[in-house]
Amino acid sequence: MDRLWAPWRGKYVSCAGKHKGCIFCKASKRNTKDYVVFKTKSSLCMLNIFPYNNGHLMVSPLRHTKDMASLTQKEILDLFSSLNKAKSLLDKILKPHGYNIGINISRVAGAGVVGHLHIHIVPRWPGDTNFMPVTGQTKVISQSLRELHRKLKHAYAKKI
Ligand SMILES: [Zn+2]
Repeated sequence: MDRLWAPWRGKYVSCAGKHKGCIFCKASKRNTKDYVVFKTKSSLCMLNIFPYNNGHLMVSPLRHTKDMASLTQKEILDLFSSLNKAKSLLDKILKPHGYNIGINISRVAGAGVVGHLHIHIVPRWPGDTNFMPVTGQTKVISQSLRELHRKLKHAYAKKI
């Protein structure tokens, strides 16, 4: 079994519960230069600044909820449309060979931000689980977040 082991995320996971506020709510309310790629009527897409892999995006509803069952049909449709859009942007910009797409519900399942439901989109390439994370506790991310953010926002704006 291949494992995408990400020890550099330990700081994020251990600190996530201590942050005041919620990163998704902050991103949804502010019009800042955060790593938000796009917002829709009821969801947003942003880069994960502690990525499992290059291009790791997260899509969340704008409304703060951890309960999937509380989402309305409109929110579910919007969320899934944003997920498709996010994947499509990554297809165009990074051309990954595959994806891991999933939701971690509660701390025991690996959720860093427990209170606000979000979907992870992790691009995958052959050989991206190499020796570096195992031996050096270092993940090689070949592209800067700023550069990738700029490219994704540009692609979204141009409806590429
Ligand atoms: Zn929130």
